[in-house]
Amino acid sequence: MTTAGNAAAAGHQVAVEPGGPAAGFPGMPLAIEVRGLRKRYGTLVVLDGLDLSVPQGEIVALLGPNGAGKTTTVEILEGYRGSDGGEIRVLGLDPVRDRAALHARVGLMLQQGGITPQGRPRELVRLHARFYADPANPDELLELLGLAHAANRRYKLLSGGEKQRLSLALALVGRPELLVLDEPTAGMDPAAKATVRSLIAELRSAGRTILLTTHELADVERLADRVVVMDRGRVVAAGTPAELVAGSGPLLRFRLAASDGASVAIDSSELGALGAALGGTLAPDGAPGRHRLAGRAPDPRSIAYLADWCEQRGLLLAELQTSGGTLEERFLELIAEARPGDETRSAARDRGADAAVAGRGSEAITGTSAE
Ligand code: ADP
Repeated sequence: MTTAGNAAAAGHQVAVEPGGPAAGFPGMPLAIEVRGLRKRYGTLVVLDGLDLSVPQGEIVALLGPNGAGKTTTVEILEGYRGSDGGEIRVLGLDPVRDRAALHARVGLMLQQGGITPQGRPRELVRLHARFYADPANPDELLELLGLAHAANRRYKLLSGGEKQRLSLALALVGRPELLVLDEPTAGMDPAAKATVRSLIAELRSAGRTILLTTHELADVERLADRVVVMDRGRVVAAGTPAELVAGSGPLLRFRLAASDGASVAIDSSELGALGAALGGTLAPDGAPGRHRLAGRAPDPRSIAYLADWCEQRGLLLAELQTSGGTLEERFLELIAEARPGDETRSAARDRGADAAVAGRGSEAITGTSAE
């Protein structure tokens, strides 16, 4: 059950049906079911009782900062790594014991792929396609993934991004019923990311189930039916993207400008007092002149107070927006909540989305606005 190496094990049919209804998804058959998964490397606890359910026919994104345990989880699901405890069912089977049987039904994209350095993309993808009943056209897939120009180049000579695309091609070519993709868009340029996202969306439309790990919120926003946010080996939140965002508090965002339209930032000495007067926490919100008030519903009284405050200083409320947070902000909040006392995370949460985009305080996450 590796991307390329075990093709000879393919072709097994299994009689066992995928898992039945389970906690959290009444009535929904599950393609992946994990309960209380544990894994440690020496003294380092990497998975600390992880629960994960992937309903059939859905795209579930496993989202978390670097080191959260995403790759370890995926490698255990693939049977590539053993666990130290917990229950795991992949299409109703045990990933270690039934590895050969699962090989023909699960498409895997590993971060380090087990691909022979001498192999060439076209021959590898063609070889791999032969082990599936209804494969995609290998040449079309290479073309689609922007690998046609390198189709006859040896693997060891491919760039990092080309290796990544080959790994994805090997996972996709069999059009398997379950796909497990580890960071499928990592290291790709925006055009390649868009191609990969539309490929994944097409597979979902064709009824495939997909588990993808990512720290790219754009992957989640554009693809995922459900998100499982994990940190330090545990689930910190799970739900649809909309459900996660709904969990974040109300926000008031505004941009201040002078009469000539130039953006004006509130002096840091005034932020605290104005925030307190407005009944929340006021902070800069990235771009010049942008501010966000968290922790207080933006009711007419606070907006009137803010408008008054601006008038006294001859400032314009150039933009004003009341809403809940974005998925990105919610993600940062969740990670900060999961790590009380961690100042880096708290600071990242206070700084909001732009901290993440700039890679400050949240090295692991890439925001949509970066694209
Ligand atoms: P993620 O994919 O979310 O970034 P990983 O599952 O790769 O997280 O890693 C989780 C933690 O386990 C990290 O702290 C990482 O350094 C550690 N780790 C991963 N693989 C090994 C290994 N083979 N031996 C020791 N530690 C490891």
